Amino acid sequence: MNLNLLERVADQLRKGLAAYDPERLTGADAARMLAGFAEIEKLAAGGKLLSARRVESSNVWRREGHRSASAHVAQATGSGLGPAINALKAARSLGSLPATDDAMRNGRLSETQVKEIAGAAIVQPEAEQELVDAAGKQPLNVLRLRCRRVRAAGIDQSQAYEQIRRARYLHNWTDEEGAVRFDARLTPDEGARLVAGVKAETRRLAADARRAGCEEPARALAADALVGLACRRGPESGQDVSSSGPATMVHVRVDHEALLRGHLEPGEICEIPGIGPIPVDVARRLAADSILSVLVTDGVDVTSVAHAGRTIPSAIRTALIERDPICVVPGCGVREALEIDHVLPFTDGGPTSLANLARLCHWHHYLKTHQRYRLLRVNDDWEWQPPPVAGHDRVAAGPSG
Ligand SMILES: [Zn+2]
Repeated sequence: MNLNLLERVADQLRKGLAAYDPERLTGADAARMLAGFAEIEKLAAGGKLLSARRVESSNVWRREGHRSASAHVAQATGSGLGPAINALKAARSLGSLPATDDAMRNGRLSETQVKEIAGAAIVQPEAEQELVDAAGKQPLNVLRLRCRRVRAAGIDQSQAYEQIRRARYLHNWTDEEGAVRFDARLTPDEGARLVAGVKAETRRLAADARRAGCEEPARALAADALVGLACRRGPESGQDVSSSGPATMVHVRVDHEALLRGHLEPGEICEIPGIGPIPVDVARRLAADSILSVLVTDGVDVTSVAHAGRTIPSAIRTALIERDPICVVPGCGVREALEIDHVLPFTDGGPTSLANLARLCHWHHYLKTHQRYRLLRVNDDWEWQPPPVAGHDRVAAGPSG
């Protein structure tokens, strides 16, 4: 690779793009073009990171009058200083991360994916290959969660938690339009409690709003819920705290042995599904406060609990939330407002057991229930099948869910 070749490639792209009229393409061709541009973007991101590393080590940024290599990179790429600092950090790690470096040079990783993987693999290099493979198959939010797990396993958990706890904050300010704004940084368990409490109150307000015949977006109701909870439940409000609003539960997935032992051994997990790892002693404290629904994986084998009724017992519900933090349809990645689906419909004799339940987003649940899409369990993976094309074999799509 040299500058001449790079300039020719850029020149060709510029010419092609000037005459590019996607309106004349079929949808399938537009999708191919999108994938092609995405690949070029990934390759370019790789080239940027590799070059930025040399810009930093060569001191060319000093000669150009920048106060740091990051400032040089930020200006050259039109990004902010924060992303530039992270880019350089990832670029520096690449030297000791051969699998990431290789995948990046192959155009298989986006800049965000490289940053996530590098940040985790530098702490635990033996996880590198697995993360690179995951990046190719799973949505970004799943990759982020895996990277957080890897980082958590590689550093002292209690120390990391304590750092977050000590630096926790809530602050508010008034923006240029006069609205009051908030920003908070909380430990994962306290954050999960707050989010669960606000969500429960939001659902209550949404039901009230529906009865009153008015539609409000969920995010607006969540704001009302937060204000309502904070003002109603203050220690000086004189109201009975125990009767105001629903109790909040924190779901934690932790290995039974680890919970008894008080710390993690390699391969064990203690985390709030969808949020991330917490130290085992925090899980024990939550259990003592009985605001924890622990999902134990080995000792009490929740995966074997089955139930005859349609109501889903809380042990199974918790296990399900842990197993399916996102919609199970491959590539979907939706994690909000998931619905529980009976894979073999309950009305067709499908049991309410963990093996026959899956969490789906509203859209995929609708497709499966009403549009004859099928969800199949193949080994440990889910397969999503569109309905057969020819309509001759019309079988009534039984209700599911
Ligand atoms: Zn989905």
